[in-house]
Amino acid sequence: MVRYYLCGLKAYLLATVKITLPDGSVKEYPKATTPMQVAQSISEGLARNVISASFNEETVESTTPLNTDGSLVLYTWRDEGGKRAFWHSSAHVVAQALEELYPGIKLTIGPPIENGFYYDVDFGDHTVSDKDFPEIEKRALEIARGKHEFKMRSVAKADALDHYQKQGNEYKVELIDALEDGTITFCDHDTFTDLCRGGHIPNTGFIKALKILNVAGAYWRGDENNKQLTRVYGISFAKQKELTEYLQLLEEAKKRDHRKLGKEMELFTFSTMVGQGLPLWLPKGAELRERLEQFLKKAQKKAGYEMVVSPHIGQKELYVTSGHYEKYGKDSFQPIHTPKDQEEFLLKPMNCPHHIEIFKSKPLSYRDLPKRYAEFGTVYRYEQSGELHGLTRVRGFTQDDAHIFCTPDQLNEEFKNVIDLSLYVLGSLGFEDFITQVSIRDPEDPDKYLGSPEVWDKAEQAIINAAEEKGINYIIEKGEAAFYGPKLDFMIKDALGRKWQLGTIQVDYNLPERFGLTYKGHDNELHQPVMIHRAPFGSMERFMALLLEHTGGNFPLWLIPDQAVVLPVSEKYENYAEKVLNSLENHEIRALVDKRNETVGKKIREAEVKKIPFMLVVGEKEEETGMIAVRKHGGEDLGSITVEAFANLVEKEISSTLKSF
Ligand SMILES: [Zn+2]
Ligand SMILES: [Zn+2]
Repeated sequence: MVRYYLCGLKAYLLATVKITLPDGSVKEYPKATTPMQVAQSISEGLARNVISASFNEETVESTTPLNTDGSLVLYTWRDEGGKRAFWHSSAHVVAQALEELYPGIKLTIGPPIENGFYYDVDFGDHTVSDKDFPEIEKRALEIARGKHEFKMRSVAKADALDHYQKQGNEYKVELIDALEDGTITFCDHDTFTDLCRGGHIPNTGFIKALKILNVAGAYWRGDENNKQLTRVYGISFAKQKELTEYLQLLEEAKKRDHRKLGKEMELFTFSTMVGQGLPLWLPKGAELRERLEQFLKKAQKKAGYEMVVSPHIGQKELYVTSGHYEKYGKDSFQPIHTPKDQEEFLLKPMNCPHHIEIFKSKPLSYRDLPKRYAEFGTVYRYEQSGELHGLTRVRGFTQDDAHIFCTPDQLNEEFKNVIDLSLYVLGSLGFEDFITQVSIRDPEDPDKYLGSPEVWDKAEQAIINAAEEKGINYIIEKGEAAFYGPKLDFMIKDALGRKWQLGTIQVDYNLPERFGLTYKGHDNELHQPVMIHRAPFGSMERFMALLLEHTGGNFPLWLIPDQAVVLPVSEKYENYAEKVLNSLENHEIRALVDKRNETVGKKIREAEVKKIPFMLVVGEKEEETGMIAVRKHGGEDLGSITVEAFANLVEKEISSTLKSF
């Protein structure tokens, strides 16, 4: 009996859990040790910085007892997970402040986002605008200073429903309705309670600086048939200095907003008569776009691509076969019906099926492959009006599309060639900071994808091999693949450190199968080709937006519509200005003369707004000596030089960015 008792006691004393840390080390801790205690056991310094954690890939609180073996990641502010917890917790605090300041409002959802957080609120009869922000911030920071702990608790579904039914909050009731009993948790802090899955900072006191950024309309569950709510955007930091820096960055981003620059530089416009989300390219913008297209066409020609042209609509059946109807049909533009023949056409959401039919136009053998068909093809996809944004979210856009049809043996080489072309495009446009992302399928959700697992494995491996052989740094993202195949995306970091997805390369075994594509092999048998979809710019519209915001409108010299403007100091020197223009044109420099009866000072200011790189002032002295006084955008004075010397300068600057492919 005694022995048994002793063994039992020993077992109790030794109740431990094995915790694996990210560096692979395994440490043993008493059962119910919390992530914060693990941090303390490593170092006090770490413990001070830990704000959240994940255990076995699930978000936990820093106070959650760990009762099983598993892997633990401790998050500090530097980690995405840490920021998420910080901003998620801040959303609770702001929600509390809003509830106190606007009694009777209904809270819906309030997630962390890339920069900060938002909360969608049904404000009822209250209205909230910019002038209310300081009061909301003040109250939220008061709450934060109370250092209230975030405490999670499980709630039975019936009790959770009861809690929100009493408040008359139909939104939370709808959310809880969809949850399974036994999985529902609430989070309490101070006097506030919210439906929540967890992942908080230890207490509200970590929030030292907080700003409400703006309010915007947002439909409940993103559906425009639902009620419009008010989305309150905010951001918070652990230091005032970080908030100040962030706000400075926002100011800079505002100055570079492509919608503002596009207007000032007269590149594009929108018309309510034409329709929302349908951009109109103005002459300067169209010229720029044309130059971008020519740049890519030239490189593509060297890389063995052939241009094709296809119509803007296609029979519905075409997209049913391709699977695009299933994807873009119901929630997008509806089919166009012909009055007599009962035909149905769809605005093309993708160019691929058209290029496939071009491939099928004559029988091909392995000797004809690869076939590389390129088209600047305009496609149409319906986006809700609330989702539209300048040139980045539109309803009609032109892809710099191409489809490569090759044998499985050629796939690796072709994929690598596309990587080379993409890198050339990025480099020529001044994008140096980027990462590549290999987007593979989510094996847990096979229904989301077309095609068999074997085919997917092969395609995913082909991309990874090409990336490896090209020696590019890449990360793998599960569940980010297209529905028809895995892809490699270039993620650009712009001048303000914001990430944009650009240039995508996709391997596709599915469409060739759906369309029964074949080529005759060495063995005289028919085989199925592999397809690559690729678009280095993505779309002309989105790329223009990105280029505007990255460069602040100061495009590379080879691309910008007007490289120089000649400014005569008075009417007297117009003839000389024309002569200068003539010789600039002979040197293939794109320029114009500003002959308006305005002061040179005013003309310079306007040329600055239009981002014209060089202002060439001509007056008496210049005419006498046959020179031009060169002033650079931004103010640098290059003095008086000859047109020839200026042409050399322009040529040198262009060849430093634009290499030949
Ligand atoms: Zn929460
Ligand atoms: Zn395609």
